[in-house]
Amino acid sequence: MIRKHLVGKRSAGFCGRFLIGVFLLFVSTVGNSQNLSKHSAKSGMEQSVRFRDGDTVFSIRNETSAHSWNQYAFEKTRDLIDAYESYTGVSFQRATVPVYKTLPESEKNRIRLVLKESVYLNGTRIGGYNNVSGGTGKELGIFLESGLVPIGSPALLLHELGHYYFTEPIWLTEGIVSFLPFLLAKKGILKLTKQEISSVSDEWQLSERPSKIDPPLAENFQSDDPRVGAWLYSKSVRLQGILYRELGNENYRKFLKTAISQDLSDGNGLLAVLRSIQPKNWESILKGWVLPGKYSAYSVHSFSKMKDWDSL
Ligand SMILES: [Zn+2]
Repeated sequence: MIRKHLVGKRSAGFCGRFLIGVFLLFVSTVGNSQNLSKHSAKSGMEQSVRFRDGDTVFSIRNETSAHSWNQYAFEKTRDLIDAYESYTGVSFQRATVPVYKTLPESEKNRIRLVLKESVYLNGTRIGGYNNVSGGTGKELGIFLESGLVPIGSPALLLHELGHYYFTEPIWLTEGIVSFLPFLLAKKGILKLTKQEISSVSDEWQLSERPSKIDPPLAENFQSDDPRVGAWLYSKSVRLQGILYRELGNENYRKFLKTAISQDLSDGNGLLAVLRSIQPKNWESILKGWVLPGKYSAYSVHSFSKMKDWDSL
């Protein structure tokens, strides 16, 4: 099962079951802000990092000349997972049980990043893909093009790392993993520079106009039309703004904890969980967004401006 999501303004992509993601991009517009030489030498890093319930091996294979990226990515990864553990109360080891369950013992508790100048899958340049569970070939890891995740713009890296915690359902988790770095930075749990926070909110595609084809997220998150895919991806992020506003901080944390341990599967699954956390008129709140029907409590333009997010 493959579903679309967007990566940056210039690229459309896919994320699939158990972290198998692929990002399509228009190759001609790929920028590369790293200073890459023609004669790039490979580099790598393998470092043990201590999280709440034990050690994880962090490894990078860097096929570009942007060697300073290794340390940067290591620090971003460590800080993000620390922040996820602290905010959700769920350790990395516990959260990643579904991700690692089909992998051999030697591959468990490993975070693998592969940085390349161009990322191809089956002969097509796709910008990046997420194969930490092994569903997209034997080579495991998060594969990224250096031009999409230069130092100072970690949005895509943070997004993909978030999928270690949130896998399914994709229509919900796509929004969660894009929203959380912003929220955690706002709360002071994750240290990000202003530029890094901007890279995160740029990834949300807030300027994306609602598509004429606009199914509720839980009904259809897949479209061959990139404009529809872009809108649904942005819609998934905006849903998180609505949930956070309605639930408040403590109940949103409870909600995330449930979303880690339970596959909420469809709109009714989400509805049941939200009701159990806090009784509200969730049908009206989620109408148009997750459940069928016309937008009700929140219009289609909700959370389309940065000021909506800043007020959370
Ligand atoms: Zn994703």
